[in-house]
Amino acid sequence: MSNRAVLSIDFELFTQTPAYRSASGTTDRDGVGLDGGRFFRDTLAKYDATSTAFVVSSVAESHPDAVRALADAGLEIASHTHTHQLLSDLDSDGQRRELSQSKDVLERVTNERVSGFRAPAFDITDDHFDLLSDIGYTYDSSVVSSRSIPGWYGGEYDIHEPVQATAVRPDAPDSITEFPASVMPGLQLPLTGTWLRFFGPRYTILGMKLLARRGITPMLYVHPWELVDLPAVEGVPTRVYVRTGDWMRRAVERILQQDFEFTTVRTALVDGEAAATQLQRGETP
Ligand SMILES: [Zn+2]
Repeated sequence: MSNRAVLSIDFELFTQTPAYRSASGTTDRDGVGLDGGRFFRDTLAKYDATSTAFVVSSVAESHPDAVRALADAGLEIASHTHTHQLLSDLDSDGQRRELSQSKDVLERVTNERVSGFRAPAFDITDDHFDLLSDIGYTYDSSVVSSRSIPGWYGGEYDIHEPVQATAVRPDAPDSITEFPASVMPGLQLPLTGTWLRFFGPRYTILGMKLLARRGITPMLYVHPWELVDLPAVEGVPTRVYVRTGDWMRRAVERILQQDFEFTTVRTALVDGEAAATQLQRGETP
């Protein structure tokens, strides 16, 4: 049984979510979600865990200390674009800018190499992997093999553990690995984010155990704004608010209390490769 898991955080502010951007109302509150990032960092430390933060790099420009604190606490910093726009809304140059600018900004702010990327809303385009490879990323985590959820995402893939990106797009470069977000076996709905808030931590933990029994490292994700009390904004759908704040903090803590070694994507991929090589050689991993 695999005992490793990744509980990643998509480090964006509430005001950068599609739900807020398409709402009629606004909020005056600045940095909605930064407290959630602090809580996440402290709670990882409390359980001797670490993680990968997929960071929207404009947040690293406006709040560099918040991102540096994540890196200083030992989290891997990866990219979640520069401005959190949907990649399919941009032309090829616009996509390239989001991918390269975010890498540059995050490397400058943290002084660490950035090798991973996650697209907002699991939204990628046909030349996504070519762009990643050109710009110098080595892994992507923008795929979820969810059932089709009308008006949202899903129904496109059947990938449940790290694979070469060629398994997602046959013409993708060999240099990119895809680490998909985990879904509940059978039900095929994601295990985290909104779904953790809808179905509760027992659902997520059950899914993690079922995956681990199959030798699969669970890949989960949460958002910092889910870990704070959100301002009421006219036009933001009710589902966005469900169980955010203290409820979600307790849920994250419950997950981290489970008997898993919570690690970074980079570590999970390197260790997974080493185990695969050992298996090929006929050794016991
Ligand atoms: Zn996002």
